[in-house]
Amino acid sequence: MSASPDLRPATEVRPSSAVAIDISAVRRDFPILSRQVHGRPLVYLDNAASSQKPRAVIEAERSLYEEYYANVHRGVHTLSMASTDAYEAARSKAQRFLNAGSPREIIFTRGTTEAINLVAATFGRSRVRAGDEVLVSGLEHHSNIVPWQMVCEEKGARLRAAPINDDGEIVLDELAKRLTTRTRILALAHVSNALGTVNPVAQIIEMAHARGVPVLLDGAQAAPHVEVDVQALGCDFYAFSGHKIYGPSGIGVLYGKASLLEEMPPYQGGGDMILSVSFEKTTYNELPYKFEAGTPNIAGVVGLGAALDWVGGIGLDRIAAHEHGLLEQGTRRLQEVPGLKIIGTARDKVAVLSFVVEGVHPHDMGTVLDYEGVAVRTGHHCAQPVMERFGVPATTRASLAVYNTKEEIDVLVEGIQKAREMFA
Ligand code: PLP
Repeated sequence: MSASPDLRPATEVRPSSAVAIDISAVRRDFPILSRQVHGRPLVYLDNAASSQKPRAVIEAERSLYEEYYANVHRGVHTLSMASTDAYEAARSKAQRFLNAGSPREIIFTRGTTEAINLVAATFGRSRVRAGDEVLVSGLEHHSNIVPWQMVCEEKGARLRAAPINDDGEIVLDELAKRLTTRTRILALAHVSNALGTVNPVAQIIEMAHARGVPVLLDGAQAAPHVEVDVQALGCDFYAFSGHKIYGPSGIGVLYGKASLLEEMPPYQGGGDMILSVSFEKTTYNELPYKFEAGTPNIAGVVGLGAALDWVGGIGLDRIAAHEHGLLEQGTRRLQEVPGLKIIGTARDKVAVLSFVVEGVHPHDMGTVLDYEGVAVRTGHHCAQPVMERFGVPATTRASLAVYNTKEEIDVLVEGIQKAREMFA
């Protein structure tokens, strides 16, 4: 038995983008991809909801629990120090992944939802006053609407949304008009979960900052597909979830500029976030611990570190190139299906194919596809305002990841044709 966690930083080693990914080898890394569903090989196209896990992630959690698990930041004993080292090494991996200036700016949360709630409940509640405004876009996931709505309701402020056009792109002129002297924060998806639209966030941040408005980016759908450099972007906050980037569920990251995090009140009170406690007064811990109350998701953090290493070992540029090829093929093939309409046709998209088929309810589509072994998401994708904008109650969404193949797109299209024959 060894008490030495894996502290190697793989995200720094980048293979050349000119070299194509060996997809068969990638697929062998994911044990679940060899299983069958209803007697057919699993075709997993629900990656925007949650992606599958490579052996490196599974193994990182297993070895933590079998070899060096203990609580972090508490003990002087060997296991606690080894666990703490692994936990903090994962923070450094997340820092490098986002190119944040310091590990102090990396806070572990349960996921994107908790990260946004943290900012809304601390930064939002201390800055938003009656008559102020919080700006979002018409593309947002409910997780980047409801926390702001709650703050606005409490403070007597107004939540505004920048509209999107028929392709599912934010109308920048309209967004600019809504950036007013009353706007306290702009909270925006980097990439839309329902449509795949990649927002021009660098340009938008510049617009917002020119008016003195801080920007939170919801990176839940961007982090697995797009290289993120928070310093180059200049965003004030950035949030993403482990489970969408081949890591464990129940863990995520909030990046915040140190200057803002310093001035924000704590999110939750408890262990680890304090320097000293008496009945008269508590002094809070330094960053990032001020925002990490209680025993954290230690295995989740270590697993997330392994996932970021795994992604870094392939290279997000190569992952994006592979997925883009699948998006082009998938778009072409779906456009050939009579009665099928793709919802979300932005010029800049990640590999998300949201669609409706005349005469086939998305839930029936999902069920037929499941019998073909194809896992897709059907419904409103926690983005009801997007569905409303396009006048549909739901769509079927195929969302792709690095391990998907052209052959799997063919299986998807055959399944869609089958559903049409049955229902349309
Ligand atoms: N934001 C976007 C754009 C998402 O796609 C999701 C999840 O689907 C979330 C936020 C919420 O992420 P989580 O459930 O991991 O907190």
